[in-house]
Amino acid sequence: MIQCVASRDDSHPYCSGICCSMAIKNAIRIKEINFSTQVYILYRDMRMTGFYEDYYTKARKAGVVFIRYSRDNKPDVAAGGDKLRVTVRDPIIDADYVIDADCVALSTVIEPPENEGLDAILPVPRSAEGFYLESHVQLKPVDSYIDGIYICGMAHFPKSIDESIAQAKAAASRASILLARGYVKAEPIVASCNEDVCMGCGICESFCPYSAIDIVKKAKRKKAEIIVAACKGCGVCASYCPAKAINVGRFTDEQIYAQIRAFGGE
Ligand code: SF4
Ligand code: SF4
Repeated sequence: MIQCVASRDDSHPYCSGICCSMAIKNAIRIKEINFSTQVYILYRDMRMTGFYEDYYTKARKAGVVFIRYSRDNKPDVAAGGDKLRVTVRDPIIDADYVIDADCVALSTVIEPPENEGLDAILPVPRSAEGFYLESHVQLKPVDSYIDGIYICGMAHFPKSIDESIAQAKAAASRASILLARGYVKAEPIVASCNEDVCMGCGICESFCPYSAIDIVKKAKRKKAEIIVAACKGCGVCASYCPAKAINVGRFTDEQIYAQIRAFGGE
């Protein structure tokens, strides 16, 4: 088994999270079926989260051989008769180790799937890796940036089934609060658009992380319209608007300049 295939490199800098524990689970199972089967796990770092560490110890005791490799010296797999010849540089003995394998299993990177249809319906921001982004890592780990949309499982990040179930329960609990309450609380501070100044360029709409702006036609001209129930008052739109048409309640440019002057700025 070769770990971290196309993972933790320049194109996919993140750890796929579950491959090490899955490889060890499979290795232990193979040993249970036939103890004499030689099982090798070639790894960069064994990342056994939580109680899975116990399985790592169990696998070692069962005779699974672990060989580390470096990012700059990845294992080489070549066809060799009816076997696959795997050559790996073992940094501990500083020599090549050759394994003639009947079967090679690759733990490949877990990528977020592309789904343009779903993205069009659910405008939830994604992380740099392409997974749906939570609102706050510690305080709102299953809330998306959009009220009423919650995230769990692999849509959020690669994770095990038990973690996915725990997160799904949390997401269902959060959703039930909204359903039980029966209404949505709007933010007290929201953006407003001065339509006399707005040019209808749509920059604000493209940058709003909460999809709280629509560009609509008013008297044959395009104007930005704030969806007050969706606006979180973050101010991103105001900072990008080239016409300075947007103000966020209680944070007008004049008020912010006055604050800066009060602190001794120019
Ligand atoms: S960025 Fe400013 S000018 Fe452009 S549509 Fe939005 S409010 Fe109007
Ligand atoms: S203040 Fe933030 S949430 Fe509200 S419309 Fe502007 S960018 Fe969107």
